[in-house]
Amino acid sequence: MTTTEAIRLDAVTKVYGRGPGAVHALRGVSAVIGQATFTAVMGPSGSGKSTFLHCAAGLDRPTSGAVRLGGTDLAKMSENELTKLRRQRIGFVFQSFNLVSSLTVWQNVGLPVRLTGGRLDAGWAREVLGRVGLAERLGHQPAQLSGGQQQRVAIARTLVCRPEVMFADEPTGALDTETAREILTLLRTAVDTYQQTIVMVTHDPVAASYADRVVFLADGRIVDELPSPTADQVGAWLSKLGRR
Ligand code: ADP
Repeated sequence: MTTTEAIRLDAVTKVYGRGPGAVHALRGVSAVIGQATFTAVMGPSGSGKSTFLHCAAGLDRPTSGAVRLGGTDLAKMSENELTKLRRQRIGFVFQSFNLVSSLTVWQNVGLPVRLTGGRLDAGWAREVLGRVGLAERLGHQPAQLSGGQQQRVAIARTLVCRPEVMFADEPTGALDTETAREILTLLRTAVDTYQQTIVMVTHDPVAASYADRVVFLADGRIVDELPSPTADQVGAWLSKLGRR
């Protein structure tokens, strides 16, 4: 089966600062993320995970190398174009949910579409909100919801926009184990049911086991990949990396 590329990184480097104090956060990272796949990015603290995510999502520019989203070379885009691309073609889910506290669930989910001047497809929004289990909570504000429910709103908000890639940065980091599993199941469902492409940074081997593959970063390089990961395999890999 051939999968279509959602994102491609070619020899991406990122250097912070100059001279002797320069930090080489990425040292030539190449990766292809196929459409409708779920990729976990793991590695020790400081290995370059956030920098990888920021460069892949067009939040930060590589020092050298290329990032292509659906064939679009991000390096050729102006800041304004990149901002537009992030709003229209990329979705973000964070550990801290990032909902607007004064808005209802329904309003939060519709906000990105409105911000880009589009019209909310109400039928689609209802379908997604039903799928994430929030059909009965549309008029609630974030403070009236549990952490897991708030993360469901954030995921629904992203899915409603049908982004080419959803980037999730430790999406279960603030949740208890049981709630985390529900959220991970939901992300898996988004890939399998809606063909959503997801790239997730995580330090949790159980979270990574929901992905189709794990990419391991160490010292700014991809040092290995694991297809169809199990939590035990991932845990073993991480302890091996930690011992290097
Ligand atoms: P991770 O997410 O795996 O913890 P990061 O991508 O945050 O790793 O960081 C990789 C390296 O780059 C680290 O050494 C970090 O200190 C450095 N770094 C990250 N962001 C900056 C920045 N804005 N300025 C300087 N150094 C940075």
